[in-house]
Amino acid sequence: MNNSYKKAYIAFGANLPFGQMSPGQTVTSALDRLNGGPVRVLRRSSYWQSPAWPDPTQPPYINGCAALETSLPPYALLRRLMRVERHFGRHRGVRNAPRTLDLDLILYDDMCLHTPRLTLPHKRARDRAFVLVPLYEIAPNLRWPRGHKPLRYLVKALADEDKAALYRKNT
Ligand code: AMP
Repeated sequence: MNNSYKKAYIAFGANLPFGQMSPGQTVTSALDRLNGGPVRVLRRSSYWQSPAWPDPTQPPYINGCAALETSLPPYALLRRLMRVERHFGRHRGVRNAPRTLDLDLILYDDMCLHTPRLTLPHKRARDRAFVLVPLYEIAPNLRWPRGHKPLRYLVKALADEDKAALYRKNT
């Protein structure tokens, strides 16, 4: 990896079809679209189905994580993720509403940042089974930048019922 490239991890989620595309197809196309130029998608996790949070009566999500290397600085990477979300029909409106595509920047190198537009590591990722379990699948030796706890400890600390609610999909 060239020095100007940084490693980053994103989480993806989708629980509404986009046109004729199922959430799983949308995610696959979105990662393909993201890959190119200053962004290389190095690894993709399996797709995991998880109940919608915080309202489990909404359609279940397809969730997962991808490892990237990028020459983009973090804000530019976030803008690129948002552009891809918009391309796949994402409208920002009601918080936690069902969505065709959600792309979150979970980690960018070892960076810790807290600004209105960007928090790194992503502020809720540490507590979410649907982020940490797929992340562990693609990066089992990762350490969390804040506190340098191994990711496997964070996975272990998740509630058993949250982990049990995740299903690996065959897509
Ligand atoms: P959401 O609707 O959950 O995708 O949240 C998107 C909003 O969270 C945007 O306004 C972003 O600027 C902000 N945000 C802060 N930190 C992050 C992050 N690490 N990844 C993605 N969005 C973030």
